[in-house]
Amino acid sequence: MVRNAIAEGIKYMLLPNIDSQTIQPMLDLCAAFPENIFPMMGLHPTDVKENYSDELEIVKNHLEKGGYYAVGEIGIDLYWDKTRLKEQQDALIRQIQMAKYFNLPIVLHVRDSFDEVFEIIDAHADNKLKGVFHCFTGTIKQAERIINWGFKLGIGGVLTYKNSGLDLVVKDIPLDHVILETDAPFLTPKPFRGKRNESAYIKYIAQKLAEIKNLPIEEIAELTTCNAMELFKIPVSQLLKR
Ligand SMILES: [Zn+2]
Repeated sequence: MVRNAIAEGIKYMLLPNIDSQTIQPMLDLCAAFPENIFPMMGLHPTDVKENYSDELEIVKNHLEKGGYYAVGEIGIDLYWDKTRLKEQQDALIRQIQMAKYFNLPIVLHVRDSFDEVFEIIDAHADNKLKGVFHCFTGTIKQAERIINWGFKLGIGGVLTYKNSGLDLVVKDIPLDHVILETDAPFLTPKPFRGKRNESAYIKYIAQKLAEIKNLPIEEIAELTTCNAMELFKIPVSQLLKR
């Protein structure tokens, strides 16, 4: 799938971490494609369990070692489980503090939890904290608050879904604030909706955005790539190699 993506001109992919079990497979994949794949480090909200403090210790140890481009995915997910809200809030706050300490952007997973996440970002936002609300599907009001904090909106396959309403929101958002993502293997864009998603399919999301913005797809690709490179500080040496 990585080769498929590279063949389609997708040169840079960021991998979110989930928990301590996913670190090694993620790093192995990054080692196989060191110029194309960049890892994040974090504890995903759906994997905040009783042992989350131990898990956060592992996250911190890895961040100390370096080589990561973001703290992610972190956030709050009340779709799958509402019982651990307190623990999820605590894990999010502690990982925001790590991001500030290590000077890394955060990649936020927000599901059925806009108010809860907004409250925490509001309390911790400063001009140093950067990040992205990944797979954003909210309202224009929510988008404006995110932009005001200096955060980006991660736009994925939902943009291609009929009646998602996301097209109307994105229409009014300046492209400076947008990065593209697939969320593979989830949220597969049309025309492959229902099948397993992969990074190569990002072109369908870019195509839809090009239609909405009435711009050539090349311009969409360049702008959103620049935004992502800047946010994640992908080293210039990586750029010059191409
Ligand atoms: Zn997510």
